[in-house]
Amino acid sequence: MQPVYPPEADTYRKTVREFLADNLPNDWRGIGAYEGEALERFVAEWRVVLHKNGFLAPDWPKEYGGGGLSSLEMVVLNEEFARAGVPAGAANDVFGIQMLGNTLLRWGTEEQKTHYIPRILSGDDVWCQGYSEPNAGSDLSNLGLKAQLDGDQWILNGQKIWTSAGHLANHIFTLARTDPDAPRHKGISFLLVDMRQPGIEVRPIKMISGESEFNEVFYTDVVVPKENVVGGVNNGWAVAMTLLGFERGAAAAVNSIRYQAEFDRLVEMTRAYGKAADPKIRQRLAWCHTRVQMMRFVGYRTLTQFLRGHQPGPDAAISKLLWSEYHKVVTELAMDIMGPDGLVPTGRMPSSAFGADDPGAPNSTNSWAMTFLNARAGTIYAGSSQIQKNIVGEMVLGLPKEPK
Ligand SMILES: Cc1cc2nc3c(=O)[nH]c(=O)nc-3n(C[C@H](O)[C@H](O)[C@H](O)COP(=O)(O)OP(=O)(O)OC[C@H]3O[C@@H](n4cnc5c(N)ncnc54)[C@H](O)[C@@H]3O)c2cc1C
Repeated sequence: MQPVYPPEADTYRKTVREFLADNLPNDWRGIGAYEGEALERFVAEWRVVLHKNGFLAPDWPKEYGGGGLSSLEMVVLNEEFARAGVPAGAANDVFGIQMLGNTLLRWGTEEQKTHYIPRILSGDDVWCQGYSEPNAGSDLSNLGLKAQLDGDQWILNGQKIWTSAGHLANHIFTLARTDPDAPRHKGISFLLVDMRQPGIEVRPIKMISGESEFNEVFYTDVVVPKENVVGGVNNGWAVAMTLLGFERGAAAAVNSIRYQAEFDRLVEMTRAYGKAADPKIRQRLAWCHTRVQMMRFVGYRTLTQFLRGHQPGPDAAISKLLWSEYHKVVTELAMDIMGPDGLVPTGRMPSSAFGADDPGAPNSTNSWAMTFLNARAGTIYAGSSQIQKNIVGEMVLGLPKEPK
């Protein structure tokens, strides 16, 4: 089954392909072919090209520096970028553009939009996400970061944890308790915090892979202007949920393209190890193939809903659950195929700690071993698998709520 697009999609597809042909190197094989400094340089330069052409936030209104694309054009662009294996932005853009920017367009005041949106796109403001705390992960509404109003400013004291790419950011959007006496969900506000002040301390956390991708962030008398609340004081829960929908849902329509490319690399590696005739390996590969096909069909459904103007909501939990649980299994299979080689990994490291390695990446043992270790994290961040199942049960299928 292939989706049927209206003719204007073909016209726009041609435009995107021409843009890619004009702007990518002639020998382009996908961003996975780059590593180290060459990778950093390419991503930085590519981000500028995307920004200049309105492709960094393609569906945002032109008045805010976006591309003003229709939903259909946006779908075509995402598909072509995923197929070509080009990045949609830099590492922290997932926080600045996908999460915060989209949320500001929905909830921000005009002043917040005109101040922050251009600075997100230019790369002057680099964002990270301050939701989780040591006692508030799945149970996010238990958060305790304290914000007290003192004249025209909020004073913040407390701690966040698991802050991805916090060491690369200069701003953090954060959930804080602004009314300790209100019921849990009703005393929270969504605040925009400048990290360039002495009260903010960022401490790296070392992961099983040896990398330090996330951090603890400590707040001591951190100052936030009063007007930096998004969506109204004590209304942060609704804003936070809007943002989580963008975090979980955005990639669903093109997920399968990336996971198909990864699966093709795995089949190639199975042949290289002389294991393609092993019936047990074949059976496991077949299972993986069916999962990627399921992602494709879930992607089509997301795409159809998106074209009808439906924004990602609780149903985004379905694709989050599907890809993250799949990724644990497929990377474990890769480890079994590599055998002892997987224990002494060599070659190129994956450029991203999350999801499949980049398109065009060579089949290095490091690529598979590191994605194997990182795959566990996929079933935890953006809400654990158990929480996704609760969301699907209660909010998508309408089953009774679990007892509290
Ligand atoms: C790689 C990575 C990056 C992250 N990046 C960020 C970031 O940038 N910013 C940020 O704010 N946070 C981030 N997080 C934190 C992430 O959102 C939390 O880890 C996640 O929400 C789970 O919370 P927790 O770790 O406190 O686990 P807990 O909530 O303590 O859960 C422990 C276990 O109990 C289960 N459980 C909990 N409640 C229920 C329930 N009601 N029903 C069934 N089972 C339940 C969970 O599924 C899990 O298996 C990141 C996490 C990871 C792994």
